[in-house]
Amino acid sequence: MKLRNVGLLLALTIIAAVSVAAVPPDETLGFVHATVIDATGSPAQPDMTVIVADRRIVEIGTSASVKVPKNARVVEARDKYLIPGLWDMHGHEIFGAWLPEDEKVTPLLFVANGVTGVRDMGGDLEPLKKWRSRIASGDLLGPRMVIAGPMLDGPVPAFPSSAPVKDAADGRRIVDELKANGADFIKIQSLVPRDGYFAAADEAKKQGIVFAGHVPDAVRAAEASNAGQKSIEHLTGVFEGCSSVEAELMSKPRGPGRGRFLSTYDPAKAKALIALFLKNQTWQVPTLYWEQGEWLIEQTNAGPDPLAKYAPAAWRERTWPMFTREILKSWSTDPVADREAFVQAEFKMVGEMHRAGVPILAGTDTAAGVRVYPGFSLHSELEMIAQSGLSPMETLQTATRNAGVYLGLSDTGTIEKGKRADLVLLDANPLDSISNTRKIRSVVINGRYLSRSDLDGLLHTVQLEAANAK
Ligand SMILES: [Zn+2]
Repeated sequence: MKLRNVGLLLALTIIAAVSVAAVPPDETLGFVHATVIDATGSPAQPDMTVIVADRRIVEIGTSASVKVPKNARVVEARDKYLIPGLWDMHGHEIFGAWLPEDEKVTPLLFVANGVTGVRDMGGDLEPLKKWRSRIASGDLLGPRMVIAGPMLDGPVPAFPSSAPVKDAADGRRIVDELKANGADFIKIQSLVPRDGYFAAADEAKKQGIVFAGHVPDAVRAAEASNAGQKSIEHLTGVFEGCSSVEAELMSKPRGPGRGRFLSTYDPAKAKALIALFLKNQTWQVPTLYWEQGEWLIEQTNAGPDPLAKYAPAAWRERTWPMFTREILKSWSTDPVADREAFVQAEFKMVGEMHRAGVPILAGTDTAAGVRVYPGFSLHSELEMIAQSGLSPMETLQTATRNAGVYLGLSDTGTIEKGKRADLVLLDANPLDSISNTRKIRSVVINGRYLSRSDLDGLLHTVQLEAANAK
């Protein structure tokens, strides 16, 4: 950190010192008179008391029946709404020079926004492993992490933090190495060749490790689903798979305009593909907020950015302008009307998949999307998932209950006795409007209580760091 702004630094150190210091969460908490929205799908339960001790939810019941232990910090939650901590199911936290490691930016932005878990979809394995274990032990404040490490990509990867795959042998070897080195799952990128993909899929199954990610350009969505890919990100391969000319669209993946995707859309093929996803339980992480950013970048990247103060120079001055140039050059070259129609088709697709029973997850691609800020963007994603036709409860579940189910983690995703104490207290009812998830009064992360002023302290810390980090 360069000390360019000493006055601000001094002013903020006092606030920040309280918040960022690693404190073992040994406190007992009692939320009283809260309306609990447990995300199991049950209706909201008014006037409840929730007790947290030893990083767990140890008791839940009506405020009339549950006694708050004497040693507890009492949190008055009348007219407030307690939801499970949120998961961003598609993030990138440490990604070579594009998103340099900075523990005072990304983890804190997540926490300040109520995101207490993140599925890291690709990054630098060794530093990510350090964060993962420091966060788990309480030494670093940040969301619980499930990490992929380097992404399997083609022989000449398009991104940093990648493992090049030229053939089947590479696919198998890299899966073995990542598993042995502590990756939680395998991330697939777009340029993995067919033989490398199917070999990696087979090896992942043998090794008992999940593989997830893009449907590679050389693979059909139906094939990926049948191969056991657990989730498809950004609806990759989906519109190709719904087209009457799938082979043509696949033969030049960056070529045909979005208008061609829409004009060859075949509802019967769509129905069959969705049915296959349901049968195979192929989860969808549509990253709608960033899809809109990508396809309509002239609009989403225009005008003032009120969150710019939270973006380190590396994002603001290097990485995001680079993405913008690439997108304008190679992706967003179609007529804007076609791209707008395509984004609308993506919303409709998510609604159709959901109604058919295909499980949906909220993910953002932060911070690898232009102006896609850790934490803040998850709330935007939830709004877009709701716009796709999910109810507020169903939308909330895409970032809570569904995340726990997908990850096979029985201790997260809902407010139930015995679960990990990751909670968000809201000033307004998210079942009235999902946008109310933004109205955060306090956060409990791994048992540690952060008041509104603590959360503001985290944001100030990020602002200071972003101003000074390279
Ligand atoms: Zn991503």
